[in-house]
Parts: sequence; structure tokens; C-alpha cells
Amino acid sequence: MLTTRPRGTNDILPGEVEKWQYLEELARNVCKQYGYHEIRTPIFEHTELFLRGVGETTDIVEKEMYSFLDRGERNITLRPEGTAPTVRAFLENKLYAQPQPTKLFYIGPMFRYDRPQAGRYRQFHQFGIEVFGSNHPSVDAEVIGLACDYLERLGLDNLEVHINTVGCPECRKKHKESLIAFFEDKKDQLCETCGGRLEKNPLRILDCKSPLCQELSENAPTTLSSACPECQIHFQQVQEYLTEIGIKYTINPRLVRGLDYYTNTAFEILVQGIGAQSALCGGGRYNGLIEQCGGKPTPGIGFALGMERLLLTLNQQEKSLPESGTPDIFIASIGAEAQKASFKLAIDLRKKGFIVEKDYLDKSLKAQLKTADRFQVKYTLILGEEELAGGKVLLRDMAGSEQIEISISEIEDFLERRLQKNE
Ligand code: AMP
Repeated sequence: MLTTRPRGTNDILPGEVEKWQYLEELARNVCKQYGYHEIRTPIFEHTELFLRGVGETTDIVEKEMYSFLDRGERNITLRPEGTAPTVRAFLENKLYAQPQPTKLFYIGPMFRYDRPQAGRYRQFHQFGIEVFGSNHPSVDAEVIGLACDYLERLGLDNLEVHINTVGCPECRKKHKESLIAFFEDKKDQLCETCGGRLEKNPLRILDCKSPLCQELSENAPTTLSSACPECQIHFQQVQEYLTEIGIKYTINPRLVRGLDYYTNTAFEILVQGIGAQSALCGGGRYNGLIEQCGGKPTPGIGFALGMERLLLTLNQQEKSLPESGTPDIFIASIGAEAQKASFKLAIDLRKKGFIVEKDYLDKSLKAQLKTADRFQVKYTLILGEEELAGGKVLLRDMAGSEQIEISISEIEDFLERRLQKNE
């Protein structure tokens, strides 16, 4: 136990963490260009927020939340997703009083008691964006476009954008009735969960993973066929805006979100080749959510993109990310006096902006040079008692093994020239 992490969690180790930093920085840069601002909400919230904001009949709320009573007997839940907390923060901090729409993004850990497998964890990370305060179809296209832009900048291939519309609450009422009529005589063949869903939430049968339910719902009436003229026009306009920015999409009538506050556009970005967990990113419009969470009726739309799945995809497609963190120089020393001087020199050079590694174990010079090689530094500074007495150090070019003597006062200038010119 003491040396085993909880099931479904991951350690992100040095070597891997640089990739995360790169992906996070790229997300921040892309968001900045599109005018989205970062928000950081707490890792835990009142459980009630997710009951309302995610929905009591969802898998997340029914089976996946990490909920507990805190020492003050409050019902607390580790956040399973980022939209409800962002809506809560929007309302609590009156962000609606600022010029609208409000465009936000977040990057952080989420927690779901899910069955762990490749691409599915109990602690995972999402990069997500939310726009509150505009129902304009160009916003739908911008949100989808931002996700595509991000993924394309990483050089990913085989991405598929699936879109659909679930209409407004009026369209869904109509659709619900036609679904109940459609499944009436198939009720006994549906899986147990869907059998129970039929009267309450038949829309969710459409995204049930059971092969039989999928087969039975093959010819079920689509949400698009029940969409009112206004919702049809909105969907049509979203498509026009997507075409305008060159995004290829597939209309997928099975793509639905079963709760009342989801409206109009639903979308997913899928990637071939990472098996069952092929959804990299999912999102959609939720014009009823802010009201559901206690605010004034305000349109909203967003997406969440899974970072672990993104990394799996990058590995699978053999896309390399720029490496970082290699030290500029290693300082080797021989003898106690030189160790002390190397300690000071390392800190002085770090303060000047160099990435410096040194020996901390009083190893032999040979062993220190081996360590320097392992760090893949271009140069090693060698401090011996003799050089030190003369105010000098040896500078060793690790590639050619040549050594020259330079004075300590010149090191900074010298390294600056050498490292900049990449000689
Ligand atoms: P969702 O919030 O369920 O719409 O999921 C949005 C994205 O988050 C998915 O497309 C995945 O990339 C990622 N995701 C969701 N659940 C998990 C999980 N348990 N483990 C890893 N990634 C996840």
C-alpha cells in the first residue's frame, strides 16, 4: 500500500512532465489568441453543484463521484468535470456584469470513479473552455475550431469531428414522445438500464454502449428530425461557419446529450487508433445550464479535452514534442576546496540564467564526466585545486573532449557566446 498509488491514478514523472508542460503552454497560447481567459476553481465543490449542474440521472452522478462528508458535515465532491464549477464561479463572482460573452478556459485534474483502462482513469486531466452569454452560431464554430486548431498544431492525424443538434427543450419534448413511441414494442429487448430509462430519459438510449441497444436504435427518430425551424437554422448556420474556417465534419445523429439543459450543438472529436476510448474531446451547447444552477437564463457552450488521451494519441502517432530541461553545463570539481567553489559558481551562473548541474556526491572526476554525459550537456567546467588557485577553470567540450583553460571571470561571457551560437 505504502508504495502503491491508488488504482486509476498516475505519477507524471520527470521526462514525461515536460510533455505536459508543453501541451499546457500550447493550450494557454491558443486560448490567449482566441481571447479566452484562464480560470482556476477549487478541486472540490459542494456535492449539490454537480447534482444540479451535471444531472442526477447521469453516470457521473449516479456512480462515479468521489463524495464525502467533511469534518463540518458538509457534502463535498471532488470535481468530476469543469463546466459546473465554472458556471458556479461565473455566477458567484458576477462575471456576467462584465462585457459579454465571457470566454474562459481551465486545465486541471478531474476525478471519476470509473473502471480504469487505457485512456480511462480515476484522476485525469482536462483542458476545457466555456463561453457564456452568446447563442451566436459563430461561437459554436469558434469553440469547435479552437479544439481543432489546438490538435492540428500538435500535428495529429486521423481526427474526425462529429456534430449534431439536440434542439431546444421544445424540440426535445417532441423527440422524446417519438422515441417512446418508437421503443414501445422493443422495450423488453433493451438492456436493463435503458428499459428503465424509456419513460424518463429515452434520449440516453441512443448513446447506450450495449450492442443490442445500438442495433435496436438504428432507425430511431433523430433529434434533427424533431428540431423546430429555429433550431434547424441554428444548426445550419453552425455548419456554414465551420465550412468557412475549413473544418470538415460529419453529422452524427447518435451524438446526443440526454439532459434538459443541453441545447442545440453537440460535438465530439474522435481519433482513430486508440481503441474504445476514441473520444479526445467532447462538448456542446447548454443554454439551460446557467439557469439550472441558479442564474438568469444565459446561453453557454464549451468543450473538455482529455490530456491523458491526447498524450496516448501523440505517442501512438509517434509525434514527438520538443524536449526541454537539458542543463547548459555541468560543473565537476576535484577536492574539498573546489567543491565549495563549484557550489558558488553553480549558483552564480544559475542566477545569470544558465541551467546548471553539478556533482553532489564527491565522485571521482571520471564518474563526474560520465554523469555530465548522461545529462547530455555540451560543456563541462572542471574545477581542480590547481586551476582554482590561479582563478581559472577547465572548459571541456563534451563532444570533442577538447579542454581549454579560461579564467573564472570570463566564464559567463564565454558560455553566453558559445551556447547562443550553438557552437
Ligand atoms: P466528458 O467530460 O465525459 O465529456 O469527457 C471529455 C473528455 O475527457 C473525453 O473525451 C476524454 O478525452 C476525457 N475523459 C473523460 N473521462 C475520462 C477518464 N475517466 N479518464 C481519462 N480521460 C477521460
